[in-house]
Amino acid sequence: MKKLVTWMGLSLMAVFMLAACGNDKESASAPDGKEKLKVVTSFTIIADMARQIGGDYIDVHNLVPSGTDPHEYEPLPKDIKAATDADVLFYNGLNLEGGDKGWFKKMTDAVHQKDENIYNLTEKVTPKYLTEEEGRDEEINPHAFIDPAVGVLMAEKITEVLIEKHPTDSDNIKKLGEEYVARLKDLDKEYGERINDIPEQNRTLVTSERAFQYMNDHYGLKEAYIWEIDTEENGSPKQIKDLVHFIQEHKVPVLFVESNVDTRPMETVSKETGVPMAEKFIYSDEIGDPGDEIDTYVKYLQYNIDLIHDELSKKR
Ligand SMILES: [Zn+2]
Repeated sequence: MKKLVTWMGLSLMAVFMLAACGNDKESASAPDGKEKLKVVTSFTIIADMARQIGGDYIDVHNLVPSGTDPHEYEPLPKDIKAATDADVLFYNGLNLEGGDKGWFKKMTDAVHQKDENIYNLTEKVTPKYLTEEEGRDEEINPHAFIDPAVGVLMAEKITEVLIEKHPTDSDNIKKLGEEYVARLKDLDKEYGERINDIPEQNRTLVTSERAFQYMNDHYGLKEAYIWEIDTEENGSPKQIKDLVHFIQEHKVPVLFVESNVDTRPMETVSKETGVPMAEKFIYSDEIGDPGDEIDTYVKYLQYNIDLIHDELSKKR
């Protein structure tokens, strides 16, 4: 929070003035020669969804890049400019971007974006809550997108909005959106089938952050974790002790570590319990840059279910 205050106080005013002066409308055009819709997304997974659905008919500017925490972010000058010029802005909601007091809301307010251009993609999702604890003000778990069934809802919303905002290319966007939603529905089905295929006594997912709550609840996995959300203390002695206890009481075959966290707390848990770590990282808060192994949401979902299924089914 302190960081946000500094950012609001100093850089934003200067940057906003710059953005307001240099309001040059570059009119990049789509394959059919029509003007592209300018779309801003809050983090990597939504950026990919928008690109899959909007194709060459939109230009996407993504805010939080891979390797940066979407829970807390300081928009750069280029982000402020893109947010000012955007026709549409998509964000996750469920407090991923900090909610009403968070960085995304502050930014869209600061650039005077109209409410009708800003879309929360999880309005239809029933929030799940973190365990109440002192010192934590945001209690909704933001990580709904790890569940492919939630991905379906988000993709449907993006399709609906892009069609409405871009009537000249609406037929093409509708077709891309429908194909993409169908692919996500297949993955939802695959998650159900492959988790059912895991021996019942092995169906527990242990991760560092409690990011997999929606997915676990949906497909019937038990969950355990070191900390509840990345913005709090990560891997305190008490948090580690609690997880070690859980593991000693339940049969847990393997421990997963996310691609974007410090691996040391889970290494400690592994040493203290003798339970091995999975051979590869699991993905939670992000996908990689274009060209990386996991550079789309579809690849991310496929990779995670392959890893979860194979690690929890392994004979040890
Ligand atoms: Zn997270």
